[in-house]
This record gives sequence, structure tokens and C-alpha cells, in this order.
Amino acid sequence: MATGLMSLASRDMAIDLGTANTLVYVRGQGIVLNEPSVVAINTRDNRALAVGLEAKRMIGRTPSHIQAIRPLRDGVIADFDITEKMLRYFIKKVQPRRWARPRIIICVPSGITGVERRAVEEAAYHAGARRAYTIEEPMAAAIGVDLPIHEPTGSVIVDIGGGTTEVAVISMGGIVVSRSARVGGDELDEAIVNWVKKEYNLLLGDRTAEQLKMAIGSAWPFSDEPNAEIRGRDLVTGLPKTVVITAAEVRESIEESVVGVVDAVKFCLDKTPPELAADVMERGIVLTGGGALLRGLDVRIANETGTPVITADRPLHSVVIGSGRCLEEFDMLQEVLTTTAGGI
Ligand code: ADP
Ligand code: MG
Repeated sequence: MATGLMSLASRDMAIDLGTANTLVYVRGQGIVLNEPSVVAINTRDNRALAVGLEAKRMIGRTPSHIQAIRPLRDGVIADFDITEKMLRYFIKKVQPRRWARPRIIICVPSGITGVERRAVEEAAYHAGARRAYTIEEPMAAAIGVDLPIHEPTGSVIVDIGGGTTEVAVISMGGIVVSRSARVGGDELDEAIVNWVKKEYNLLLGDRTAEQLKMAIGSAWPFSDEPNAEIRGRDLVTGLPKTVVITAAEVRESIEESVVGVVDAVKFCLDKTPPELAADVMERGIVLTGGGALLRGLDVRIANETGTPVITADRPLHSVVIGSGRCLEEFDMLQEVLTTTAGGI
């Protein structure tokens, strides 16, 4: 291909702006970026020192004038300025040379207000988009896991992210019922920190709690349960200390948050019209998002709802893959996208 022509092409992209991780899919290429949604800020001059992976490594390790911020922490855009900085940084990173202005699709939580949605679009325009679109995350996830969203049959998707659990019943290309609960992976981590503090007088960092959850956390008992050694600071002596913790203890510590996830699913099933509910009983619920990797969560939800549960193949990628498909098959899927005419 002639390079002169190449420079006219645009690198259309789909961005999963998650509370824990941001992923970018470029049309024709697939996933090209996958980094934590973290920005390290120098509070003296408000400048960003690091973004993504580099910034996440700084969490809990920074001197007082550097703050590692997660701008989307609670499932909404808690800090818009920093979110925009982060978005710009990632867009620039995947589009380093001069290309035509791209189309950008950004995935947003289903509970987002119109104002927030436009703010996200604005950020994409500021970062150089020719046209910005948003797509609701559960819809993107449903497309990403190949649910038959266009058919007149009910599909249930449960996306458990860092800050929220989004449950949606989808039929004929639209969301029929949805529920966004402010419970996700972060809350599980916090529950572990609090529990270990109470039971062992040991202070753990958030990162350690997350690693513990990933290593031995569960929502259902198993027969071959492992233990783990954890290091933290003894609250009595102030010195570093190591304790051995069992999988059953971790399960107990996160129980309340797990109930929160299960309740969000039950709430949505409860609101599902009977015809669709019958479809769901037959076809099952699909779990996705990083939280779907919690051991035994599928069994737990299946048991409490009496409905079959399937965990997505690549739970951390479903949303970006689904929105990426909207780029690849733009004409067929554009009806699931929202855009404000005009832009800037
Ligand atoms: P978001 O869409 O909010 O960015 P993700 O879908 O990327 O969230 O999921 C991130 C969450 O998934 C984090 O809270 C992380 O701790 C959790 N997670 C990732 N892997 C596992 C695992 N193996 N077990 C339990 N939780 C996990
Ligand atoms: Mg997500």
C-alpha cells in the first residue's frame, strides 16, 4: 500500500473505559492496549506523572505529593479532568503518528446520565475523534460473548467489574431490564482488608488484598481449598508480619459483597417479563467482567437463582471485543450506538 494513502486512513477505535482496566480495540487489528485505569498525579502542580500500568505500580507506594488516582473508581466518572487526561493519553498511545481523525466508540455504564454521556463524548472529541459514539457496557458485553441480541429471545448478561455489577436482559437489540449495583471487585478487596484488620490486627494494602482474592478467593466451597501467606503491618507492634489465611476465611470476609452481586442478579430476573424469563431459564445467564473469575461465583448464582450460568471465555475482554465488533460491522450494529449530532 502506498504510504501517502495510508496516512489518510483513520484508526477507528473502541475503548472500554472500565473502573479497573481500560482496553482499546483498533479496527482491523484487535485489542492493542490493556492497562489499569490509574493516573499518578503530582499534587504540587496537578500534572500527570504516569498513566496505566506504571501508575498502578505506584499505588500505596508514593510520597505524599504524588497521588495514584483511579478516576472512575465507583463506577461513575468521579474525576472528569483526570479521566479525560487518561483517555487522551491512551488514545495518543495507540495512534502515535498522524492519521486522519478516527471514529471512537466508548463503552459507558448503563446507569450513566445524558450529561455524563455527553461529557465522555466531549473527551473523545478533545482527544481528536472525528465522531464519538457511546455504547452501553452490557450491550457491548453481550455482543462480545456472541449472545443473539437481535433475536426476540431474552439474553441475560452480568458484568462484574471493579466498581459495579451491571445486569441486563437484552432482546431484539435493546436492553429490556437493567440494574447497576455499586458492588464489584474493589468492594471485595476492601472487605478483605477490613476482615483481616479485625481478625488478625493486620493491615493489608489494597493490592495485596486483590492478589489474595485472585489467588484463593471464592463464592462457593470446594474440597481442595488452598491457603495463602499474606504480609502486612501488625497494628499492635507496627512491624511487618506474615499470617496464613485459609480460602474459607477469605470466603467469609467477602460474603456480604458476594450477596450484593447475587441480589443484583435476582433483582433483574424478578423484573423480567415472563416470556423472557422462560427464555432465560432455558438459555442461562452469562457472567463476564473480571469479577466473573471469582472461583465458584457461577455455581453460587446458579444455585440461588435456579438458572444455568455460563462464564464467558475471556471475561476481561468481552466489552472491548463487543464494541470492537461494532466498528468492524458498523453498518449492521450502529443502531446500538448513541451519538450526539454535530460534535465539536
Ligand atoms: P472494569 O470493567 O470495572 O474495569 P474488569 O472487568 O476489568 O473491571 O475487572 C476488574 C476486576 O476483576 C478487579 O476488581 C479485579 O480484582 C477482578 N478480578 C480479576 N481477576 C480476578 C480473579 N481471578 N478472581 C477474582 N477477581 C478478579
Ligand atoms: Mg468493565
